[in-house]
Amino acid sequence: MASFSVAFLGCKVSQTDAQALRERLAADGHTERGGETDIAVVNTCCVTHEAVRKSRQAARRAARHAGRVYVTGCGANLTGDAFAGLPANVVVVRRPSEPTPDWVAGDVGAIGCVQADVRLERVRAFVKVQDGCSFGCAFCVIPQVRGASRSRPAGAVLGEIRRRVAQGHREVVLTGINLGCYRDREARLSLPALVRAAGETPGLARLRLSSIEVNHLSDELVAAMRETPTVSPHLHVPLQSGDDAVLAAMRRRYSVATYLRRAAKAEGFNLTTDVIVGFPEEDEAAFANTLRVVEDAGITKVHVFPYSPRPETRTAGADPVPAAVKKERSARLRAASAEACRRRWEEKLGGEDVVLVDRPGRGYGDDYSPWLVEAPVGELIPVRARTVGEEGIVGVAA
Ligand code: SF4
Repeated sequence: MASFSVAFLGCKVSQTDAQALRERLAADGHTERGGETDIAVVNTCCVTHEAVRKSRQAARRAARHAGRVYVTGCGANLTGDAFAGLPANVVVVRRPSEPTPDWVAGDVGAIGCVQADVRLERVRAFVKVQDGCSFGCAFCVIPQVRGASRSRPAGAVLGEIRRRVAQGHREVVLTGINLGCYRDREARLSLPALVRAAGETPGLARLRLSSIEVNHLSDELVAAMRETPTVSPHLHVPLQSGDDAVLAAMRRRYSVATYLRRAAKAEGFNLTTDVIVGFPEEDEAAFANTLRVVEDAGITKVHVFPYSPRPETRTAGADPVPAAVKKERSARLRAASAEACRRRWEEKLGGEDVVLVDRPGRGYGDDYSPWLVEAPVGELIPVRARTVGEEGIVGVAA
């Protein structure tokens, strides 16, 4: 039996891939623990230059504390030499996400003593329903490292949700690289139907979507979300830019008007987004448009990504906006986001919500607004909003 650790960098899909690796190694009888281990897996990210640097750093660190290190995930699938020159005990696994756990387990060597399910420490389970992307956004390396879009059968997804609920998870987040592309062709089921079916899982308290492209924000999807009581009124809809010329240069397949029209369908939902700042075509006027659209769409939390060119993309060779300008625009956008969050939080003052406590002293309300509240981790507790702080709504048990 070997001891192992699994770490991940990047998004929720990377987290679900890491979980699949943990479960596969545990099923073979290996033991997960912290500190020095026989095996370490680092599931990497390559969304920015910085993400690759951190992934490489994590692999190098792991090589000091483990007998053998497997580097998996998006970063490992980049062509080029991102992980060259690492210590000899590092194995870079260039494979799609689905076969990777079996490949790693096979390489480690099965021991045969089957162990019970590994449980995530978190109260929230991310369940991958779709992987890959068949779009071609100019800046994005994901289609190259994860391949074309494909979906898990609905039966497998619903089975995993039931298993997560039985393990004690209160909230499930349906996760994918391009979730709106979800299709189970055999079962003739797309995302709205999956949401309805998943939301009815007995014992499930809360269901969310990780992220949805605005072109997939259909009437059917919004109706499924509104009509399924367990579904949270929260949507993460990447904007990337609020300027039509920049969106066209990014090859994002929608205009600002389309984004605003479709986002309006989710009236009352907490709308959050991703924005890339300092894309090659972005001048000051274009950035001002982004600030305006964030405001007009009623977006609260903006995840700001200063642009960095990725290899194998259309814009790999272009990065004309100076780093200082990106930094300054990023700070302005984060400030606008903080202000928008605060406004939404203040609207809740005096009102009640139900918070899922996911860390000591913290949790999220129904619409994924952050709350500061004292209650045991894993509890869903009714709270009343007393005041608003820098990091969320301060609540007391109602
Ligand atoms: S939709 Fe665009 S940004 Fe998102 S994964 Fe696909 S190519 Fe990348």
